[in-house]
Amino acid sequence: MNKNSTNKTVLITGASRGIGAETARVLARNGYDIAVNYRSNSEAAQDMVAELKESGVRAIAVQADVSIESDVMRLFETLDEQLGTISGLVNNAGILLPQTTVEQMTAARINQILTTNITSYFLCSREAVKRMAIKNGGSGGAIVNVSSVAARTGSAGEYVDYAASKGAIDTLTRGLSLEVANQGIRVNGVRPGFIYTDMHADGGEPGRVDRIKDNIPMKRGGDPNEVAAAISWLLSDEASYATGTFIDVAGGR
Ligand code: NAD
Repeated sequence: MNKNSTNKTVLITGASRGIGAETARVLARNGYDIAVNYRSNSEAAQDMVAELKESGVRAIAVQADVSIESDVMRLFETLDEQLGTISGLVNNAGILLPQTTVEQMTAARINQILTTNITSYFLCSREAVKRMAIKNGGSGGAIVNVSSVAARTGSAGEYVDYAASKGAIDTLTRGLSLEVANQGIRVNGVRPGFIYTDMHADGGEPGRVDRIKDNIPMKRGGDPNEVAAAISWLLSDEASYATGTFIDVAGGR
């Protein structure tokens, strides 16, 4: 018995590079039509769309800053028009700002982290739930929130703001999963550890990679495709009885 929607259309936020881009590749190979959301790198997003179409699926690129409500509304209206109702949402877009202690954190920085990393997940989840909920005539669906092991470790002395935003994602994931469990919608999270992406080029400091590697039981960072595999499983019908749960992809951290 198919316990989920048979429609396979997914929105991935921040999908022009990194974990989002790798997730798009894996999902396209699994037959999903894909909306690649990007904030500013139109060329990378269009390249991604061209690559995804080679798998024989439909793919579109949609610009939106997902921390801004009007952008999110426009994003979902574009999806409705061009791909139809989505069955999956991967909340992935996020930022890490340069390492600092709490004493140096301005309100502007804290607000930037929180609106980008958690307000965006709320806004996109809200629009997805409106469309997926059975009571609204939807067919259900699945949401996967990309969190971080930082939600558990706290990232003291470097990124407590980022870690706090990821902790909020975990609480959103758990609460929303319960709120929509009887609406055919599953909500789960993936907590990556250290993954080799450009996020560390933007927000890291020299030597950070080696320092972190020593603290990882498996003594290596992860590849984006190791995270994408977990996201793909949680989205799929194989995970039809899993909701409100998390997969850590962190080399034992
Ligand atoms: P990345 O910087 O390569 O990708 C993040 C993407 O999100 C970028 O394309 C960026 O433009 C986009 N983005 C940021 N703000 C946006 C906004 N307001 N609207 C639309 N798009 C926006 O980083 P990544 O490593 O691929 O990170 C993906 C997710 O994985 C993030 O949520 C991150 O916190 C999480 N994560 C990453 C690691 C890691 O080690 N790389 C570890 C734990 C969690």
